[in-house]
Amino acid sequence: MAYKAPTGTADLLPEAAQKWTLIQEKANEVFSKYGYLLMETPSFEHLDVFARGIGEATDVVGKEMFLVFSRQNLDELRGGGALAGDILALRPEGTAGVARSVVQHSLVSPGATALKVYYTGSMYRYERPQKGRLREFHQIGVECIGAAEPTADAEVIEMMMRFFVGLGIPEASMQLKINSMGDEHCRPAYRAIIRDFILGHPELCEDCARRADTNPLRAFDCKNERCQAVLNEAPKITDMLCEECLMHYQSLKDLLGLSQIEYIEDHRLVRGLDYYTRTVFEVQVTTGLGSQNAIGGGGRYDRLIEEYGGAATPGLGFAIGFERMTLVLDELGAFPLFSPNLEVYIAAVDDSCRDAAYTTASRLRLAGISCDLDHQRRSLKSQFKAADKNGARWVLVIGPDELASDSVTLRAMETGVEAKLSNSELIDCIKQMKEEV
Ligand code: AMP
Repeated sequence: MAYKAPTGTADLLPEAAQKWTLIQEKANEVFSKYGYLLMETPSFEHLDVFARGIGEATDVVGKEMFLVFSRQNLDELRGGGALAGDILALRPEGTAGVARSVVQHSLVSPGATALKVYYTGSMYRYERPQKGRLREFHQIGVECIGAAEPTADAEVIEMMMRFFVGLGIPEASMQLKINSMGDEHCRPAYRAIIRDFILGHPELCEDCARRADTNPLRAFDCKNERCQAVLNEAPKITDMLCEECLMHYQSLKDLLGLSQIEYIEDHRLVRGLDYYTRTVFEVQVTTGLGSQNAIGGGGRYDRLIEEYGGAATPGLGFAIGFERMTLVLDELGAFPLFSPNLEVYIAAVDDSCRDAAYTTASRLRLAGISCDLDHQRRSLKSQFKAADKNGARWVLVIGPDELASDSVTLRAMETGVEAKLSNSELIDCIKQMKEEV
């Protein structure tokens, strides 16, 4: 049987993994300027953490969860028994786990300085795979917990945009969409209006009709063009916000204006998770991704910490998708060319020199010089080929003569110039050449 990775997953082969590393490094560079620290939570949690925070009626929880069973649990279930212990699930996103962790470890007390954290890792959703949409994908996310003021919203959005620009996505290729989802004072009335609107439009698709009672605002996400046209005429939430939400939203827009961040207001932007309150935002790219053109998005979740038993604590954050960003950056040619850049390759002329090649490599690495050598008893010619393939700048040749004189022959690959060096001067000499280049 030929084994293949499961549908909707992709191996991060070395080149893709280098892109992932580069994006993570850029995240660290940009986010640390805003005071963010890295944190990690488990890749699976109790199902209830997601059901509670993200919402039972969302697609992410209702349809797309990967549940985690131990062998014992699964055998019991197959045998018709009841499940012992809690149900676990792979994380479909990062915010719920961070919020759970914040409460568990009392990381934010009311009135204390906001917690700023970011995370990177793989997420899991049982979706229909297509370009830019996988079942296992990678996200980088940030959470700012404890900050209620709209300056926090503007700061988070600015940081996200600077991150994208820093990676090489031109501002002109991106569209920032914003909206306000209201809060517990104004959203219920709006939900009821949208429910009635859906019920009053039988031409809407089955999915939209089904959502009328469970999660009416999700109808705005329907991809069906006819539904989109109908829903375009639906009442706008921004016309129904309570005064506090309206002021918060207006301040955010003013602040974005002050930072010269261009945005489009989109009253149909609702985002798929229940925990959002007030600000929601999404960045879409105008090239390359087709229908999966959202590279990142987020919003405020002022009630989420309470869902996990914490004190009322506002918060907000965003998550961006690595795979989609990579598609965009590839199309823009924004990634550097990843070429192997080994400093030294050590070639053994015959078997009698292989131990010396090994100990020389060990000395060089200890001195901070990157090097490699052959472990397959291959010919000198093959070793030189390997040196070339690895981009080595110098090859150290060790043959019987060199062994006898406690030395090596150093060959500069670019010029072909050779020099014999004693082992005692070797490391200083390479370090000096490194500085000269
Ligand atoms: P969300 O957590 O749904 O707000 O998604 C945030 C970002 O994660 C999106 O803008 C995408 O870039 C990425 N993303 C979400 N779902 C997937 C998926 N199934 N496959 C690849 N990327 C995804």
